[in-house]
Amino acid sequence: MAESSWRDELARTITDVAGLPDYLTLTDDERRFFDAPPEAHGPLALKVPLAVVRRMVEAARRAGGQVLSTDPLRRQFIPTAAELETQPYELADPLGEERYSPVPRLIHRYPDRALLLVTDQCVVHCRYCFRSRFTGGSHGGISRDELRAVESYLAAHTEIRELILSGGDALMLGDGALADVLDAARHARPDIVFRVATRIPVVMPGRVTAELARLLRARAPLWVVVQANHPDELHAEASQALSVLADAGIPVINQTVLLAGVNDDAKTLDELFTALVRLRVKPYYLFQADLAPGTSHFRVNVERALWIVAELRRRLSGLAMPVFAVDIPGGAGKVPLEPSALIGEDESGYRLRAADGHVHHYPKEEG
Ligand SMILES: *Cc1c(COP(=O)(O)O)cnc(C)c1O
Ligand code: SF4
Repeated sequence: MAESSWRDELARTITDVAGLPDYLTLTDDERRFFDAPPEAHGPLALKVPLAVVRRMVEAARRAGGQVLSTDPLRRQFIPTAAELETQPYELADPLGEERYSPVPRLIHRYPDRALLLVTDQCVVHCRYCFRSRFTGGSHGGISRDELRAVESYLAAHTEIRELILSGGDALMLGDGALADVLDAARHARPDIVFRVATRIPVVMPGRVTAELARLLRARAPLWVVVQANHPDELHAEASQALSVLADAGIPVINQTVLLAGVNDDAKTLDELFTALVRLRVKPYYLFQADLAPGTSHFRVNVERALWIVAELRRRLSGLAMPVFAVDIPGGAGKVPLEPSALIGEDESGYRLRAADGHVHHYPKEEG
């Protein structure tokens, strides 16, 4: 598919309630959101590609024409009245990213990695987005001057080994602009490793052209980081886009957000991670949903999350198992969490709980 065809698809994206086709019947909860005064809405407007809406309608048809409030696509992309409720502990900038921004658009929180907000645009607005203070705003793509400042910062900070191109969605940049960003960073730091973070291969797979794959491959070492949250998202077109990347020799990893009512059970996540491995995509992180305003209906109690993680650990191979992590509110960074298998210890060794549910002994070495 040529670059122009995904641009056409982008033009068919729905950005207000009036644009939703009549054949998508809204649930009461969705209608109550749209009926609320605009000032009660958060910063993230409705944005969903027509092709994704068609999948929602198709899911409802398969379920006998019912309005499906449980459809995982619908829950992720169509707002409900629950968004109008904010909690006192929710934060506009839940990860405290603004504190760690030495030059515009660059977030340097960990010594060896930096994250660059190359654009604030996305093809879809995920209702749980943790960066809603920025996403879908009016910044657009990174400017020449901003890029020059980033280049100087990277040249001066050789402790940075990886640069993550994020946003928004890094693949919202056209091929030319994307190549410019990668080449500028590579010029400043020939040894840097890139990560390109994007929801597009899953949500608007037509963007993943053979030209794009060549462009990315030519700038190795470069990893693509995608986001899929439910096995229904890995339909034929998305699978094809992921295969284009893998066939081009580009390593692809996936980040999933744990979302109540979408994927908060071991069976769904087992299916998702197994499907990703089959598509040659390594499940990398499973994230607890961050404390963005109006997203409490998506968050899973951490204790229950750990129970799901324990069940996944029993079911999945090491390859299929991601790391469950919580991002500490305010900016202290990611913390991996797993129920401990280390039950206790004595003089001679440790007591470990194995997958069989029993506690076993492991000897203690000197030194
Ligand atoms: C998540 C994140 C990274 C990458 O962390 P990894 O654990 O290496 O994936 C880098 N910078 C920022 C600001 C982040 O939020
Ligand atoms: S694609 Fe990423 S940045 Fe864009 S709305 Fe979804 S979660 Fe937020």
